[in-house]
Amino acid sequence: MIRIGVDIGGTKIEVAAIDESGAELLRRREPAPRVGYAEAIGAIAKFVLEAERAVGAPCSVGIGTPGAVSRESGVLKNAYASVLNGMPLKPDLERLLGREVRFANDANCFALSEAVDGAAKGAQLVFGAILGTGVGGGVVVNGRAVEGANSIGGEWGHNALPRPAPGELPGPRCGCGRDGCIEAFLSGPGLARDHRLATGESREPAEIVALADTGDRGCAATLERYEERLARALAGVINLLDPEIIVLGGGLSNAARLYRNVPGGLRRRERSARRGALVVKPRSGTRNGLAARRRAWIGVARAPEASYHSAQGRRRWKSRITTPACRSPTRRSICAFATAT
Ligand SMILES: [Zn+2]
Repeated sequence: MIRIGVDIGGTKIEVAAIDESGAELLRRREPAPRVGYAEAIGAIAKFVLEAERAVGAPCSVGIGTPGAVSRESGVLKNAYASVLNGMPLKPDLERLLGREVRFANDANCFALSEAVDGAAKGAQLVFGAILGTGVGGGVVVNGRAVEGANSIGGEWGHNALPRPAPGELPGPRCGCGRDGCIEAFLSGPGLARDHRLATGESREPAEIVALADTGDRGCAATLERYEERLARALAGVINLLDPEIIVLGGGLSNAARLYRNVPGGLRRRERSARRGALVVKPRSGTRNGLAARRRAWIGVARAPEASYHSAQGRRRWKSRITTPACRSPTRRSICAFATAT
């Protein structure tokens, strides 16, 4: 059976078809429909059916979305930026496509695929952070995504930005209706808003990144604020999870300077978190545990920014921030099948 995977993002929809061996037969991308719900799901169904016609065989369908699809009702929830949010996406798409459709949270798909064969391959505890139209996250422990009781595991975007400065309060209004969420600061629209407030210029996030690289002081200052806030937000994740690897995804993960500048900010904030983590973290002295760590090391050694360093007199894992090894939606959509079963 050929599998079609669909990645529904805030600004684009991608569809990929793979055969049983995992070979990619087709990949297409379209802007996300900026219309009402009925038109949007109609456009998604049409896109899938066109892909199916192109590969010339009946396909199964797996979909990765922001937020989560309720197991009971099939309603999409917590995908605040989407016209699909709060709507019975699963039953409606199944009716339009005439088959079962499986769903998984896109951040979980991303984190899982990076942990299985991506930049975090072999790591035991991985946090995947999506910095795009929205801010999402996924936690993978020992090769399994942690979905949680309400399918919101890892969703850090609607936590408040930690340790806000007076000028950051109450913070920008978030799509969820509250003020000062991490997403309101660290999403692409959040970055653009912050730049507009500071400079009066309306620019796209990619433009701000490109201009900062050419020496534009206003854009560079916007990104410095962004990086400092990202370090604060990730320090909270490290305090809670102590991940071996943090992989950044989403459009803003293309900004190379994040990988140069965020780790320094993180180290400054991480110090107390590390001491706290050392208190509660059992030290694995078993053969299996060591083997798992060695496997994790092999995985990290292949990642773009892998390093292993010494701290407090003994070698320890350091949380690393890396780019995803592959930006293809294919593995994410494969994951939609794997995690929804
Ligand atoms: Zn929010």
